[in-house]
Amino acid sequence: MEVYIKILSAIYMERGSMHIQVQCCGIALMVVLLIFYLRQRRVSLKTERAFLRAFCVTMACIVFDILSIIVIAHKDELPSFLVELICKSYLVTLLGVAMGALSYVCVDVYVTKERYKKAVVKYEFSAIVGTLAIYILPIHYQFGEDGQTVLYSYGPSVLATYVFALALLVVTFYLMWKEKGKINPRRREAVRLWMGIWIGASLIQFFNNELLIVGYACSIGMVVLYLKLENPEMNLDRQTGLFNHGALVQYTKEFYKKEEGFSLLAIIFERSFHKNMRADTKGTAKMEMVEFLLKIPDAFVFKNTEDEVLLLFKNQDTAEEKMSQIFKRFEEGWGAEHDIYVRPYWLYMPDSKVVDNAEDMLYLMRYIRQNNNEFSENRFIYVDEKKASEMYQEKQTAQLLLDAMEKDWVEVYYQPIYSTKEQRFVSAEALVRIKDENGKIVPPGAFIDVAEKNGMILRLGEVVFEKVCRFVKENAVEQYGLQYIEVNLSVVQCAYEQLAEDYIRIMEKYGVDPDFINLEITESASMSAKKTLLNNMKNLIKYGISFSLDDFGTGQSNLNYIVDMPVDIVKFDRDMINAYFENGKAKYVMDAAMHMVHGMDLEIVSEGIETKEQYQTMEELGISYIQGYYFSKPLSERQFLEFIAASYKEAAN
Ligand code: C2E
Ligand code: MG
Ligand code: MG
Repeated sequence: MEVYIKILSAIYMERGSMHIQVQCCGIALMVVLLIFYLRQRRVSLKTERAFLRAFCVTMACIVFDILSIIVIAHKDELPSFLVELICKSYLVTLLGVAMGALSYVCVDVYVTKERYKKAVVKYEFSAIVGTLAIYILPIHYQFGEDGQTVLYSYGPSVLATYVFALALLVVTFYLMWKEKGKINPRRREAVRLWMGIWIGASLIQFFNNELLIVGYACSIGMVVLYLKLENPEMNLDRQTGLFNHGALVQYTKEFYKKEEGFSLLAIIFERSFHKNMRADTKGTAKMEMVEFLLKIPDAFVFKNTEDEVLLLFKNQDTAEEKMSQIFKRFEEGWGAEHDIYVRPYWLYMPDSKVVDNAEDMLYLMRYIRQNNNEFSENRFIYVDEKKASEMYQEKQTAQLLLDAMEKDWVEVYYQPIYSTKEQRFVSAEALVRIKDENGKIVPPGAFIDVAEKNGMILRLGEVVFEKVCRFVKENAVEQYGLQYIEVNLSVVQCAYEQLAEDYIRIMEKYGVDPDFINLEITESASMSAKKTLLNNMKNLIKYGISFSLDDFGTGQSNLNYIVDMPVDIVKFDRDMINAYFENGKAKYVMDAAMHMVHGMDLEIVSEGIETKEQYQTMEELGISYIQGYYFSKPLSERQFLEFIAASYKEAAN
C-alpha cells in the first residue's frame, strides 16, 4: 500500500511539474509578445490600453496558476489560509480575463466617455461581487488516493467563478451580437476566437479537472488577439514606418471623444515631389526626411495619403515652436548631396475644436486641398473657424442637394425670351431651383458650384433636362408659339463623354423634337474639356440640337471661343448690358462685339434687361432676343404656362 501511495504522489508531482512547464511556456510566450508590443511605435489608443489590461490579467492568471500548483504541492508546510488565498486568487484572475474581454468590446460599443464609464462600472461591479463570492465561499480540494495529494479544487468558490465568468461572457457575446454594427468586424472575430479558446479550455478543465490548461489557453488567446488586431505594425505605413491613415482616424477619433484639443500641421507634397525623389540617385532623401519628422519631439507623425503627412501635437505652443524649426529644415536641401529641395504646401490647424469630430476634421483638410487655389505665395493656409464654417456650409449644401434629388425637390423655372423681330415670346430659359425642407426655394447660385465640385451636377443636369423634356411634351408648349427651350449645361457636363448619348436617350424617351432644345454652354478652361465638349456638340448637332454661348461679356469670355464653337446664339451677360448703360467706354466694346457676332451670322440674346429704356435701346441696336425682369422673372411651370398662354392670346388679338 505504501508503495502504491508513493507511486501516486510521484505521478502527481510529475504531472504537476509538467503542468508548471506548460504554464512557463505560456509566460515565455507572453513575455515575447510584450517585448514585441512595447518595442513598436504605438499611438496609445483606447483599445491598446484595453488590450494591455487584458494582457496583464492573463499574465496574472498564469502566474497564479503556477503559484497555486506550488502551494498545493507544499500544502502541509504552508498555512492553510495562504494556500486558500492563492488558489482563490487564481480563480479571481479567471474572472478578470472574462472582464478584460468585456471591457475590450465595450471600447467600440460605448463611444462617448460617459457611456463607456457608466457601462463598464456596472460590469465591474458584478465582477467585484463575483470576486467577493470567490473569496468568501469555501473551496474544497480533491485528494488523491493517498488522502494527502491534491488533485484539483472544487466547491462553491469554484462554482461561483464559473457562474460569474459565464455571466460576463454572456454579456460580451450579447453585446457583440446586439451592437455588431458598432464593432469593428476584425475585433468581433478576434474576441470570438480569443474567448472560444478560453471557453474550450475551461470546458475541458471542467469535465476533466485534472487537465489544468486554462492558463495556457489564455496566453494563446492573447497571441491570437495580438496577431489579429493589436499588432501595432498594422498602424504603420510599410514604406515609411510613419503611422498610417487608419491610425490617424482612430487616434483623432479618440481625441474628439475625450474632448481634448490638438494642433495639426499638414505637409502637402506636390507632384514634382515624387519626380524630385526619383532624381535623388542615392535614394536617401526620402528616408532622411522621414527620420527628421520622426525625431520631432512631441509630434505624432501620420502618412495620411501618398502626398500628405500630418503632424499632430497635443499642445499648440509646442506645435508653433516646432513648426518654425520644420520650416527652416525644409528650406535646406535633402539627400547625400543636400541638393534635393522640397517645397511643400502647409496647412496649419492650431485648434482642432473648430470642427466637431474626426471625420469633419479630415473632410476639412481635404476640402481646403481641393480649393488650393487659395494657397498664397508662402504656400501656407491657416485653418481656422472661418474655413471650418465655409466647409460646413458646403457640406450642408451638398446634403441639401442630395435630399432634393432623393425626394424630388428639384424644380425647373422658366424665364420667357422675347423676340424683337416677331414681337412675341418665342422661347424660354430653363433655370433650376431646389426646395428645402421648409418648402423655401433655393436659387442655383447657392448650390451649382458645390454640385460642380462634387460631381453631383451630372445627375442634377440630367434631372433638369428630363423635367424640361417632360414639361414641353406634356404641355405641348409649341401651341403658345414657343420655338425652343434653352437649357444650361455646366462645364462639368460638357466634359462628360456620355453627355450626348444620355441626352439623346432622354429626348427619345419623351419623344421631344431635337429642334425644340437649345443647350447653353459656357467657356471651359481646359483644352481636354474643350475637346470632349466639341465631340459632344458634334453628336448633338447631328441629332438636331442647337447651342448658345452663355455668359458672354463676363470676365473670362474670349472672342476666339465664339469662332471655335458651333453655336447659333450668343447670350450677352447682364454685367455687359449694365456696363453698357453705365460706362461710356463699354458702349464701344458692346458695339464691337455685336458687329462681330452679327458678322458671323449668329443671333444675340440680351440678358438682364430690367427697364423699358434698356429694352428700347436693345431693340434699336438690332438685338433679336431679350430676356430679363422687364418681361418676367423666372416662373414656376404653372405660372409660366399661364404667362405664356396669356401673352399668346394677347398677341393674337
Ligand atoms: P444664367 O444661365 O446666365 O441665367 C441667367 C440668370 O440671370 C438667372 O439667374 C436669371 O434669373 C437671372 N436674370 C435674368 N434676368 C434678370 C434680370 O433682369 N435681372 C437680374 N438681376 N437677374 C436676371 P438664376 O436663375 O439665379 O441662375 C443663375 C445661374 O445658375 C445661371 O446663369 C446658370 O449659370 C446657372 N444655372 C441655372 N440653372 C441651371 C441648370 O439647370 N444647370 C446649370 N448647369 N446651371 C444652371
Ligand atoms: Mg443660361
Ligand atoms: Mg447667362
